[in-house]
Amino acid sequence: MTARRIVLLGPPGSGKGTQAVRLAAWLGVPHISTGDLLRSEVQNRTTLGLQAQGFMDRGELVPDQLVAEMIRKRIEGVTGFVLDGFPRNINQAKILETVTAVDRVLHFQLNREEIIRRLSARRVCPQCGHVYNLISSPPQHDNLCDTCKTLLVQRSDDTPEVIERRIDVQYAREIGPMLEFYRKRNVLREIDAQGDIESVYQAAQRALE
Ligand SMILES: [Zn+2]
Repeated sequence: MTARRIVLLGPPGSGKGTQAVRLAAWLGVPHISTGDLLRSEVQNRTTLGLQAQGFMDRGELVPDQLVAEMIRKRIEGVTGFVLDGFPRNINQAKILETVTAVDRVLHFQLNREEIIRRLSARRVCPQCGHVYNLISSPPQHDNLCDTCKTLLVQRSDDTPEVIERRIDVQYAREIGPMLEFYRKRNVLREIDAQGDIESVYQAAQRALE
């Protein structure tokens, strides 16, 4: 039986967002990007959204538990989901476990050089915050945001040195322990994300069988 409650993990630039959309359409389940979910709860001024807004207004991070409650609400009554953007560390993984079981966790793997090359290609819209990647998810028009047509910029911390340090810290502190957590539960599958979008997609489909 094909797994239907899916979590996608992988570095930015791994094309994970693109794969999430395709896999969700293939399975007929919602694609839940926690970034989008949080934005929509805030915009719609839901109870959870207003709580989140309160933390943001005070310059604080939205608590993991609150994001988990948004996920709980979003997946009510659905037969599956493709979750993208949560969890990011082992604590979030433990909280997610209290909200839902997970059938399969796909980890989109890239080597260091490739992560650095792809992250250096990252561009952000200073107006709406949408993130593009000139390699894996380019805008339709050169350097212009698809949604608001603003000129895209490169974040100052997307330089190779800063990216390299960030990768080391994240792997040691967050990603490594989280992968171990899912490996022990026998739901983790490693996907080589080096190839083109189509071959990575096929590998991801096979990993859900
Ligand atoms: Zn924009």
